[in-house]
Amino acid sequence: MVGEKTSIVKTRSRRDFINKTIGGIAVMGVTGGRVMTGHSKQNITGKTLNKKLKIVVTGGHPGDPEYGCGGTIARYTDIGHEGVLLYLNRGEAGINGKSAKEAGKIRTSEAIHACEILKARSVFLTQIDGQSIVDASRYKEVYEILAEEQPDIIFTQWPVDNHPDHRAISTLVYNAWLKLRESNFPGKPVLYYYEVSNGEDTMMFSPNCYIDITDLESRKQKACFAHASQSPEKFYPLQEQVSKFRGLESGCKLAEAFIIHALSRPGLF
Ligand SMILES: [Zn+2]
Repeated sequence: MVGEKTSIVKTRSRRDFINKTIGGIAVMGVTGGRVMTGHSKQNITGKTLNKKLKIVVTGGHPGDPEYGCGGTIARYTDIGHEGVLLYLNRGEAGINGKSAKEAGKIRTSEAIHACEILKARSVFLTQIDGQSIVDASRYKEVYEILAEEQPDIIFTQWPVDNHPDHRAISTLVYNAWLKLRESNFPGKPVLYYYEVSNGEDTMMFSPNCYIDITDLESRKQKACFAHASQSPEKFYPLQEQVSKFRGLESGCKLAEAFIIHALSRPGLF
């Protein structure tokens, strides 16, 4: 591992290395900073961009992207960027008393509704809720979808989550991201990890960037409550506690928190 890391540094030019270092500080500067309401051709921190971004938010189940990133997704799409929610499965195991087929149908429709609220598009992978497989063919499937979508920014779940489907999507996406980087160096797409607290909790998560979602909380809540079969009245208050805590950490009322991968190109957030 050490040898691998050394070889990466050696193959970079000095300029690349300095840019990354300076950029790393810039990203950390977002922590606790004031997040502006954006406008067209800006990112959500107010930085001027020369293009429309595509953001793909991946999750182990319908509802995970909405709970972990709903405010951030709305902030992106409200200023004209494209949002895609990529679900590992259709939540087939998630409704007591319903067959997998019935539950999958209900939860697909809930996810589509949630995406409408967030002005995003839904895409479903072909895995089954609770039976996640991480193997060569699944790595290929996720890579091919992400390669086709060509996102500028990817969000995925933290690899130390208590639900195996969360860990599966995290691993599958991370592998795809590593492959995408090979063809898009120096750093596209950017990779962020998010946290959830909807009964399948993220553990050992120490964020390095925050987004103020205070004025978007009602949209996030609506998107989470679109998953009506998943007891949002029970689980949403837990996620709201997390938003308040992250808000306290970052100097606003409510925030979502993320970990940017150290090799990502900063500045697109
Ligand atoms: Zn989940």
